[in-house]
Amino acid sequence: MQVIELSHHIGGELVAGEALLAQYNPADATDLKVAIPVADAALVAKAVASAEEAFGRFRDQGIEARSDALARVASLINAQSDELARLIARETGKTLGDAKGEVGRAARIFSFFAGEALRIVGERLESTRNGAMVEIEYAPKGVIGQITPWNFPIAIPAWKIAPALAFGNTVVWKPSELSSATGAALMAIIAKAGVMPGAVNMVLGAGETGAAICSHPGVDALSFTGSVATGKKVRMAAAERGVAVQTEMGGVNALLVLKDCDLNSAVETALNGAFLAAGQRCTATSRIIVEEAIADAFVERLSLRISEHRLGDPLDTGTHIGPLASKGQKELISRQSAAMERHPGAQLVFGGSAEALPECFFAPTLFDHAKATDPIAQEEIFGPVAAVFRVADYEAGLAMVNDSRFGLSAGLCTGSLRYSEHFKRYARAGMLMINLPTAGIDYHVPFGGVGASSYGAREQGRAAKAFYTHTRTTYLKA
Ligand code: ADP
Repeated sequence: MQVIELSHHIGGELVAGEALLAQYNPADATDLKVAIPVADAALVAKAVASAEEAFGRFRDQGIEARSDALARVASLINAQSDELARLIARETGKTLGDAKGEVGRAARIFSFFAGEALRIVGERLESTRNGAMVEIEYAPKGVIGQITPWNFPIAIPAWKIAPALAFGNTVVWKPSELSSATGAALMAIIAKAGVMPGAVNMVLGAGETGAAICSHPGVDALSFTGSVATGKKVRMAAAERGVAVQTEMGGVNALLVLKDCDLNSAVETALNGAFLAAGQRCTATSRIIVEEAIADAFVERLSLRISEHRLGDPLDTGTHIGPLASKGQKELISRQSAAMERHPGAQLVFGGSAEALPECFFAPTLFDHAKATDPIAQEEIFGPVAAVFRVADYEAGLAMVNDSRFGLSAGLCTGSLRYSEHFKRYARAGMLMINLPTAGIDYHVPFGGVGASSYGAREQGRAAKAFYTHTRTTYLKA
């Protein structure tokens, strides 16, 4: 078994600590153990002090130096793509193909923000007071606290760290305890690329370390991606101190399938959204809402396609679906699936909690005839579990799409321009997918939802500027 011993990374130095947490390869616990030290409040304070100390120097290094550094991070990620993808597969259970895609995307995010660093456009207006001028500038916020999850262990850190640096901020970052080795590999690349020491500081640990970042008075803004419950704690901590916060959480995302769709491509759309990446994407489809007229044919075809998907070792290129990320996730998903199986009404069509699979594997699971009162209709199941809800027509389907306190991503499969235009206007979600899976997003456009899914300014694309800068208005008279 390979053991990877991790260290924190503060002010350009590795800081060792007693390994109190461990993550194992979820497909084979005898293959890899990641030993993780835990940063306490005192160590978090050191990381914040390092970010505060670096802030002025980093900002004043200028946009070209920042842009060049981000571009170097992008090329180093690409240069180490195979090795990073293997590490992600072994640490989180993501299939090698998905992991490679994610690594490429992380590199592209750094490239995109290398460009954005050069385009921090302000405005200059005439003052209403004759002879005076007004300038509007976008200045860095300061020290950004960033807390990331394990499901996109390199892309989510990239879409938080790259814009923070592009706009001149410094960072204290905590990766998830389930993906800290990938986090440390990214941190090593950031250091090797010559990003100024102290501009990015990585502390390892779990909830208490995250909470210490949130409550530290030196942290000027908080960016979080993870669960609904933790997101609320992060927002409360930010409100207490009066600092900016953005929290990206889950969704109970719906795909509405109309009878005028291309059935085969709608099935592929549902299959991809619900089951790939073992359903561990916050934009994954869990509610598949199908017009009754085609529901039998749809369920039959979808079940067949699920059965053709191979569950297996993420490192094996023939594998379509890997394991869940940890034993804890497997227990949680098994409990949630079992609750659905017991619930009156919904019928188990495929998979289910009774399938005794080794390690952290959980079978792709499909329910049919689900109702709005079923647990899966209201609470996120972060695994390969989805349910078909049958509806009479588009109007009933749209009402069901919107019957959720979440609103991250919503999809529609249809051949009709009329329905797609209506859906774009009335579906309640931050991201709308017409004839595309609810999961799978671009890196150059805003990401985020409404309702319980997201809070605060949008992430990614040019929208990232709103969170990572503050607006400064200067009045001048010669
Ligand atoms: P998940 O495990 O489903 O990704 P979590 O919200 O538990 O969701 O974890 C997301 C990130 O938040 C992880 O890095 C985790 O360590 C961190 N975290 C957990 N609890 C807290 C907390 N109370 N305050 C700040 N961060 C936390």
